[in-house]
Amino acid sequence: MEQEKNVVQLLKSTPSTVAVSVNGWVRSFRSNRFIALNDGSTIKNIQCVVDFENFKETLLKKITVGAAIKVTGLLVESQGSGQQVEIQVSKIEILGEANPEEVKLTILQPKRHTLEKLREQAHLRIRTNTMSAVMRTRSKLAFAVHQYFQENGFYYMNTPIITGSDAEGAGEMFHVTSLDLKNPPLDENGEIDYKQDFFGKETNLTVSGQLEGETYAMGLGKIYTFGPTFRAENSNTSRHLAEFWMIEPEMAFYNLAQNMDLAEDFIKYVVNYALENCEDDLEFLENRLLQEEKAKPQNERSEMSLREKLSFITENNFKRVSYTEAIEILKNSKPNKKKKFKYLIEDWGADLQSEHERFLVEKHFKCPVILFDYPASIKAFYMRLNDDGKTVRAMDVLFPGIGEIVGGSQREERYDVLKEKIAAMGIDEKELWWYLDLRKFGTCVHSGFGLGFERLVQFVTGMTNIRDVIPYPRFPGHAEF
Ligand code: ATP
Ligand code: MN
Repeated sequence: MEQEKNVVQLLKSTPSTVAVSVNGWVRSFRSNRFIALNDGSTIKNIQCVVDFENFKETLLKKITVGAAIKVTGLLVESQGSGQQVEIQVSKIEILGEANPEEVKLTILQPKRHTLEKLREQAHLRIRTNTMSAVMRTRSKLAFAVHQYFQENGFYYMNTPIITGSDAEGAGEMFHVTSLDLKNPPLDENGEIDYKQDFFGKETNLTVSGQLEGETYAMGLGKIYTFGPTFRAENSNTSRHLAEFWMIEPEMAFYNLAQNMDLAEDFIKYVVNYALENCEDDLEFLENRLLQEEKAKPQNERSEMSLREKLSFITENNFKRVSYTEAIEILKNSKPNKKKKFKYLIEDWGADLQSEHERFLVEKHFKCPVILFDYPASIKAFYMRLNDDGKTVRAMDVLFPGIGEIVGGSQREERYDVLKEKIAAMGIDEKELWWYLDLRKFGTCVHSGFGLGFERLVQFVTGMTNIRDVIPYPRFPGHAEF
């Protein structure tokens, strides 16, 4: 009996007298002789050499781009350049045909397709080199996320996806209801009566698991979440999705400085993991990026290759800068003075836009930056108020090309202060009774942050658009598949 193997195993094997078999999809079939077969286990194909004289014409005709086949034969040293080993084919089984006329109309057709085109056929795009490299890397990164936290004493916690609290304020929410929207029950004021809805109240899809995460950190010590998050934000940007995966660690007894240390250490770990475990895919993505950048004017091209950028992150300290310092730098910056920013920085208190964040990271400091101590007025109610009474212990990690990759803070642990802040922001305290309870029973200094997983995948793979790093992107007007 032959040994069944996948392509990545075969490419690491040495020639042997034992027959092997492999299943995969045909990427190309040249000269009626050379099949390039890919099974998704690696970016590389295995070359399968067919002596066409020994096979029926009807069978050979079915070896077409996109078809699923099983190949059996001996693994031998390759005669050609480009690969160490190849399969000398003794048997071919057609598992699933692919009609060439129809393949021509799809992105399976081997030629350069735009990323926009691939998105339109998102069910097939995983068969392309670019998408498979991105998705293998995404999978490895997800594993690294769990590995990092599990090795560092964190517990994995699953926060609810349907939430009854609408006070998180992180973004616009999607409503969840089982009411008949064509004929909803109304209350005495003529408004929709959510008391008759499935949960007896209004519910939404979560925008963040943080508040619930805090409750578990107050018992387990250190937790992390890694799950889907939903924001009905109408932002058609290359960094926003309506459905994305967020990683949210929350730690009891951590202050803001420890929170920043953790964020930096964590990011370095997962980026390094990708460098060590996704070599072939990163090499491919690096070349892809190089090609993409050739279309840009010289001054917009990156000085570093993809892997150089990743190593730069793992080898250098993130620059920690207070909001107040950042505003001074921005106020006196060239683009501000020459009115090149869309939003000019005039006074302390201004919210930073992506153009400002990118200026700090890409032009001024030329390294990742952690901004901290933001004005209370532009940040959420739960952030720890500083003694100056006007700034909060917030931190954002800013990355080149991406902008904000992490947003976090030390949480307000003082009952009275939190109550006041909730009132000041016009939030109904009753909504947050359980959250306030945490400050009554053994409250303590604690901190956490949220990292958008897709932004991390974007950074590591060098993909420009966030829609190309998640299998089925959800964004305004798009919920196909
Ligand atoms: P931004 O200013 O970029 O919209 P935010 O301030 O709304 O981000 P947070 O609420 O702090 O972000 O969320 C934590 C992290 O989640 C962000 O740092 C980012 O990495 C990620 N994130 C936020 N919104 C989105 C989105 N719509 N799509 C993908 N990732 C997101
Ligand atoms: Mn946002």
